[in-house]
Amino acid sequence: MAIDTSGQHWRGEDMTDYLRRFRAGGHAVEEVVESVCAVCSGRSFRVAIDDEEGCAERVCVACGAGVYLADSAAYADEAELGPCECPCGADTFAVALGFARAADREVRWISVGLRCLVDGTLGVYADWKIDYSPTAHLLTSA
Ligand SMILES: [Zn+2]
Ligand SMILES: [Zn+2]
Repeated sequence: MAIDTSGQHWRGEDMTDYLRRFRAGGHAVEEVVESVCAVCSGRSFRVAIDDEEGCAERVCVACGAGVYLADSAAYADEAELGPCECPCGADTFAVALGFARAADREVRWISVGLRCLVDGTLGVYADWKIDYSPTAHLLTSA
C-alpha cells in the first residue's frame, strides 16, 4: 500500500518507504529494520522516548518485554523517557529503525519510526547522530 500524504499526517503500511522519504536529519536512509519482540515475536509496542538524549525504549504489548533501541541503553541513566502517543490518542505502534550510513559505511544517523496501530499514522518520533565506530551491531538493534 502506498503512503497517503494528502492529510496533515502521513498514513500507510510501508515504514521502509516512509523512513526513506522522511530523511531524518537530511540523511539518506539505506536500511530499515522493523522491531520484532525476541520473546514472543510480537510487533505491537508501547514506546518511550527522550529525543534530546537520543534514547528510546519499546515494550511489547503482548508479553511486556522491554528493549532499548539501538544504543539507547548507554543513555538511559540520563534520559527522561516520555511515552509516545499518536495524534489520535492511541499508544500502540509498529516500530522500525532507519539507518543512514556515512561514506565509510558506518552508521551515522538513526531514526525511530512509529506507525500507529489504530489509524496507520506514521511518525519519526526521535532521531539521533552516531559518532563512533564500529557500528555494525546497531543494525540488529531494532
Ligand atoms: Zn513480546
Ligand atoms: Zn493513531
